[in-house]
Amino acid sequence: MSGIVSRLREIGRTDRTVADEVRRSLVETLFVSSTSLGVGAVAGAAASTAIALSSGDPWLAVTAVAIGLTGTARMCHAVFFHHTAAHDTVASARSETMYEVGAWAYALLLGLLTLLTLLRSPNALHHFIAGTVTIGYAAGICGRNAGRPVIAIGQLALASLPMSVGLFMSSDPVRWVLGIVVVVFMIGMTDITFQTYSAVLKAMSATREQKRLTARFERLARYDAMTGLENRGAFQERLQAELTAVESSGEQLAVLWVDLDKFKEINDSLGHPTGDRVLCSVSRQLSSIVDGRGSVARFGGDEFVLLARGTKAGFAEDIAREVMRALAVPMNIDGASLQATGSIGVAVAPGHGREAEILLQRADMALYHAKSNGRNDFCLFESAMEEEFLELRALEAALREAIEREQLEVYYQPIVDLKSGRITCCEALLRWHHPELGLVSPSRFIPLAESTGLITPISHWVLGQACAAAAKWPEEVSVAVNMSPALLKDLHLSHMILGGLYMSGLAARRLELEITESVLLEENAQSNSLIREFQKIGLKLSIDDFGTGYSSLTYLKKYRFDKIKIDTTFIADVTRSREARAIIHALVGLADELDMEIVAEGIETETQLGYVTGARCTAAQGFFLGKPMPEAEILRRLQAQSRGEDWSAGSGAEVPPLLKRLQA
Ligand code: C2E
Ligand code: MG
Ligand code: MG
Repeated sequence: MSGIVSRLREIGRTDRTVADEVRRSLVETLFVSSTSLGVGAVAGAAASTAIALSSGDPWLAVTAVAIGLTGTARMCHAVFFHHTAAHDTVASARSETMYEVGAWAYALLLGLLTLLTLLRSPNALHHFIAGTVTIGYAAGICGRNAGRPVIAIGQLALASLPMSVGLFMSSDPVRWVLGIVVVVFMIGMTDITFQTYSAVLKAMSATREQKRLTARFERLARYDAMTGLENRGAFQERLQAELTAVESSGEQLAVLWVDLDKFKEINDSLGHPTGDRVLCSVSRQLSSIVDGRGSVARFGGDEFVLLARGTKAGFAEDIAREVMRALAVPMNIDGASLQATGSIGVAVAPGHGREAEILLQRADMALYHAKSNGRNDFCLFESAMEEEFLELRALEAALREAIEREQLEVYYQPIVDLKSGRITCCEALLRWHHPELGLVSPSRFIPLAESTGLITPISHWVLGQACAAAAKWPEEVSVAVNMSPALLKDLHLSHMILGGLYMSGLAARRLELEITESVLLEENAQSNSLIREFQKIGLKLSIDDFGTGYSSLTYLKKYRFDKIKIDTTFIADVTRSREARAIIHALVGLADELDMEIVAEGIETETQLGYVTGARCTAAQGFFLGKPMPEAEILRRLQAQSRGEDWSAGSGAEVPPLLKRLQA
């Protein structure tokens, strides 16, 4: 007996710890089979009515009426509960209590029926009917209600104990034995109830866990874990469905592809946790913009895509403007004020396509344009973009092939010292000999290589070639290599450079890196530390195309450059423009003060050469002094120079007279 009580206590404890959902399911098992409930009610009512009528006893008649009414009330409750309380924890608990009261009342009435029949009817058949119905009911209930064992065991005890009492009250010892059998039966059935309860509980908990996992995996497959937005896959399904919907409604559907402009820098300089917070904040802003009229998805990284329906002309542009305005407001991340401007590509169905894939592609093309127009802007798709896009893709494929087939070649252009007239450095300039397109200009394919990531393998190769070529040159001649701004954010760049020097055996002081101003303008922590690292190992650094950007003088002081290269445009204007001449003079003075060399780029005429020499530029580079030439050709000239011969001889070009004077 104490075993049963401690098991009941344990069940009470377990029951308090099971999840609400599992408990509700267990309660529901009480109601799922209204048929068995009906069978119990009908059997009890029929047996009690038969005994009452046959015996003519008023107490048994009252019991029979009570059994009939209780059975009917329980049936009604079961049917009602099944429709209302299955998903509500409070309603479920209330229903369980009601069921418990009904079940115990009904069991007690059946127990009373047996007790009264045993005490008040002398008819053995009456005893048999009452006993069979009660024991059958008690046995059945232990299986049926095992999900709520307290109810089941209560019912078992309330139905069987009065029968046992009735049997013990008799003077017949055989009936006493039967009374004991009923008690033993109760103990056995209690145990079965506990066993069944454990099995049901385990099965239900397992089902719940499985459901939970399935839901979790479904969520993971459809949503971005960090921002909670839909992912690319889910977005594509949604886009398809929306396209079908707008086709019949006659509305338009806008796809806005948003790419944050400087997210990589935020991530690199402030750390990934801050980057994540920026993304979450942006995702909230975007969601509130399309709230009620569309949806947002995250396509990974810092790319988001908005989808919105509309009818008004220009509604997509209005949303794009709203996004720009929202992004322009600085956000407060960990007490710091951060701004994440974005570029947006917009395509609108059905005008720009009726198929999901095409629409997305076109929004992407428009985004590419927005980015190449200087970012922090939006761009609506136009058909000309597609042509340009296809052309660029073809060029990209050809460039990949050119790298594999070694159709690239490095040319070298002399940079001449204006005091001695000698070549002191040669700039490595990449050439692409395309079998059909001919010679493709680096200004055309370098930006493409930068946007596709091909710049890394290309630069690696150029560095290797340039270092190897320069290693064959006379000691006093160095080589200048152009460094793409994109590469200066790549930490592998220093390995690349050290590898180039090591493989060729070239001294670090003979390698110069030409950097454009844009790198310095961006104030990127990574580029800054790379520049300092290069200076430490003894590389020379030049600012290329000086004067074309912001020409801030602060970074001249900050980085201690070795050379400034005055951009071609100033040299071209030197005879016509007083401003150009003034700028050259100012720069020469500054370079002199800061102990830097100053190179005039793009010297095409004798007049220009004369001017820059007079203006005290330290070196010059240009077609007039020598066009970019293949490796063998520059080597030949440098060897001539070493022998003390005229390095420009034999090239077919007139030796620049001024140089002749310088060399003399
Ligand atoms: P840059 O570094 O300013 O190179 C000088 C450009 O001016 C070269 O154009 C050169 O051929 C041209 N040039 C030299 N003298 C004259 C002249 O007297 N008149 C005129 N009109 N032009 C002259 P190129 O070779 O077409 O290169 C264009 C740009 O492409 C380069 O400008 C450089 O920024 C980039 N580039 C070239 N090779 C590489 C490379 O290997 N890596 C990277 N990242 N960029 C490269
Ligand atoms: Mg250059
Ligand atoms: Mg230049």
